[in-house]
Amino acid sequence: MFPGAGEQIDAMVSPRIAQIPTFARLPFTRDPDPRVTSGVFLGVPFDGGVTYYSGARLGPTYIRIESRLLRPYNHALKIYPFKVLGAVDYGDIDVIPTSVEKTLNSIEETIRDLDSKGITPFIAGGDHSISLGVLRGLSRHKPILIHFDSHLDYWDQYWGGERYTHGTWVKRAIEEGIVSSVVQIGIRGPQYSEEDLKFPEKSPVPLTIITMDEVAYYGVTWLTSRLKSLKGKIYVSIDIDVVDPAFAPGTGTREVGGFTPRELISILRSLSEAEVEMVGIDVVEVSPPLDHTGITSLLAANLIYEAMSVKAVQTARKNLIQMS
Ligand code: MN
Ligand code: MN
Repeated sequence: MFPGAGEQIDAMVSPRIAQIPTFARLPFTRDPDPRVTSGVFLGVPFDGGVTYYSGARLGPTYIRIESRLLRPYNHALKIYPFKVLGAVDYGDIDVIPTSVEKTLNSIEETIRDLDSKGITPFIAGGDHSISLGVLRGLSRHKPILIHFDSHLDYWDQYWGGERYTHGTWVKRAIEEGIVSSVVQIGIRGPQYSEEDLKFPEKSPVPLTIITMDEVAYYGVTWLTSRLKSLKGKIYVSIDIDVVDPAFAPGTGTREVGGFTPRELISILRSLSEAEVEMVGIDVVEVSPPLDHTGITSLLAANLIYEAMSVKAVQTARKNLIQMS
């Protein structure tokens, strides 16, 4: 009954409600074999970096539960993501619930180790502060950061000097020189001041803000055509609050007027047509205690699935080039 890397427990043999809920019912291992595995799911159950409602520490657990419905074939992208990546569930990072900085170190160490083996991480948070640890672990790539969020997350500090929070990680990543440029998508809601949106003028790396109003005006196709022209290495970070709270209520810092899940999925899929290499991806800020009927966790599980599918398309294309 228990399958190998890239294979799910067969729902026709063992019903989805049975067995321990790993991501998509893939095998669990702390020691993935890089000869067969090039992508892992991993959880970061940490929410010590939030500034408002908490609960994202339970994200990985509930995303795993809702991911039991994911099936092997992605019809839209014509790919078997788990099979192509030899995907497994790596489990969770041992976070330190009372320390952001120690947790960031722990994340960095694990990610660097996986990356050195050629294994791409597909991460479920946790609050958004965790993305800084991931980017540190992937620093040798210095990727373009594609940041989906309703918030800018590049404020300097909170409460008289707290520099590591879910609202400051983009600023830290830029200062630390671990991203080559930043594209922020879905920004909306009130700002602290007019100055907030002027940071791109001062940023030492190119920073592009695509507001939700712009997407609403020009359309999703306009956005996807811009994304398709990207080249190079990318890291994708999805704050679930980029989706409208009507569809994703289970998150701590909600802003009205966001993407529908339909739109976000098609935007993600468009990356499969760009000449990019995805070096990692996270879906963060899912807070199960604030969720209803698990819909936010279900959406997060599907977004991770779509991201795995994009990576699988890139991997299949690369293998084809190497063979020819
Ligand atoms: Mn946000
Ligand atoms: Mn965020």
